[in-house]
Order: sequence, then C-alpha cells, then structure tokens
Amino acid sequence: MKPLYKARADVCSRAWIMSQQQGHELDLPSLMRQANLYRQYYGLEAVDLVGVTTESAEKFRILIEHCVRIGLFPSLRGEMPEGDLVRRFEDVGVVDWMVPTTQEGLDRAERPVRFYTRLHALGDNKLPVKELFDRPATVWDVVFYDSMRESVLATSPVVYAEVMEELVQAVDVLEAAGWEVNLRHLPLCIAKQYGLEANASGFHQMAGDPWEYRIAAQRNQPLDKIILTGGWAAAELCLAQNLLSPRNNPTCHSCQYRMVCDRPSEQYQREIGIEELTCQHGDPTLGEEVTLVTDPLIFQKARGVAA
Ligand code: SF4
Repeated sequence: MKPLYKARADVCSRAWIMSQQQGHELDLPSLMRQANLYRQYYGLEAVDLVGVTTESAEKFRILIEHCVRIGLFPSLRGEMPEGDLVRRFEDVGVVDWMVPTTQEGLDRAERPVRFYTRLHALGDNKLPVKELFDRPATVWDVVFYDSMRESVLATSPVVYAEVMEELVQAVDVLEAAGWEVNLRHLPLCIAKQYGLEANASGFHQMAGDPWEYRIAAQRNQPLDKIILTGGWAAAELCLAQNLLSPRNNPTCHSCQYRMVCDRPSEQYQREIGIEELTCQHGDPTLGEEVTLVTDPLIFQKARGVAA
C-alpha cells in the first residue's frame, strides 16, 4: 500500500487560519494569537493559512515566520500570490501549497503543491486529470460541498450521478500514479455504489483521521471538554454529528452509516432531492455487518488511515 501524502508529510493535526473573518481583514496580532492558540493550547502541529493577497503579503510573511518559530508548520491555501512572493514565502518556511486546480504559474513553487477542485465551480470543464497526472503526485481534494453551515453557495450543487463515472476513471488513473485522492463530503452510499468508499472523506472521517483538520480547535472548543468527551476523535465525531444533524432525512434515518456519513447538504436535498441515496443495511450474504457503524474510518482503513 502506498503511504498517503499526508502521512508521508509526517505532520499531524492541522487547522486553518482565515485572514478574513465576517468580512473583516484580521490584523497581524489577531492572526498570531490564533496561531499561538493552535500550537500552545491545542498542541496542533500544522496550519493552513488562507487569504493571502499582494496587499497582505508582508503580514503573511511575518505570520509564516511566527508559525515556524512556535513549531506550527505553515501551508498556504488558496490562489498563489503573484510573482516572486511564492519564493519569498518558501524562503521563510512555507511547507507546501494547497491551490485550486485552475492555478497557473506552478513552476514558481519549489515546495510540494497539493490541489483542490470545487466541483460546483468546474462548470462544463472536464476533471483536470491530465494536468495532475503530469505533476509530482501529492493530494487532490475533490470538494462536493465545502460549507458546514447552510449553503452560502450561489450555484446549484453538482448532481452526484453526473460526475461519478468520470470520477471513478480519474481516481483510477491518479491513484495508480501515486496521488492521494480525497472525495470531500460524498455520501457513503453513492461512494460505495462506485467503489470509491475508501476515498470518501467528510467531516466525520476527518474526526478520526489523525492527519486531518481539527474542527474542535477551529470552533474553539475548550480542551477539557474535548478530553471529557473521550479525546479528539470522539469529540470531533460528536461535533460533526451535531453540526450535520439538520441533514437528516427519511432515507438516512435508518441507514447503518448514519453516524459516520456527511449526507447531502441541505441545499442539495432541497434543490436536487434524495432519490439517489440508498439506505444501507449491509448484505449478510456478502459478509457485511448489518449493525450500526460507528467507526468513521471503516472504509479509509483500506488505504492506511487509522486513528
Ligand atoms: S443513505 Fe444517507 S446515511 Fe446512508 S450512506 Fe446514504 S447518505 Fe449516508
């Protein structure tokens, strides 16, 4: 089994810092305080910094240096900044990049580049398989829906049935070339139908995956509450279940994966419906468990993810 990129990177437990919150650009002291909180209070090891622009470049440069100094490994997430800023950020300690697959000018980066594709932003374009195949293998996150809150997306969600065949081929090609492909927030019954359940990684899977984002830290949950709930994995699973409970629907209600599946967003259920979903009960003739599944990594173990 090939180790996942995130495991190869040897850095666990990350979170992200957005320089813009509620329409306001945060100042440097606020961003540094957030970094200190992640490292010194929560003990996290890595952070994705979001929102760099040419105007905020100097602030980010100091923030990156600060993160490195306190032992919080910084990645930059989003569009790459212009010109030689890429090199300047790498010089002060950026570990890697996480950019949209539409990003141009990638040869400016010397550090590894991870990618994401928001399917609703893809329009009629094909998945960027060839472009990724020609690059050093890292991570490709395919994002079906990226908000925990009720939708702020202006566009309609992408219908699962319309992209899954193409995704199966994309995953086949890219995994064979060494890529880690994460299908973010894809319902497990749809993923299983296409043999992609090990790639399905939503908020429930992140909870159990030691290399993923710690949403309890993002949401400033007190550490003693996390410990009392049973540690990070238990606390985050509980958080994911609570936050996504509005996605309950009659089909998911008695499904054996209802405790570990993100389910379609409320926007999806409202605009597209739930007819594609199949309530799962397990097939005993195939040796499948019929019981309620509570381990969010039940399928991810097939590719080496374990809490
Ligand atoms: S029926 Fe619902 S809970 Fe079950 S796998 Fe599908 S989306 Fe998830």
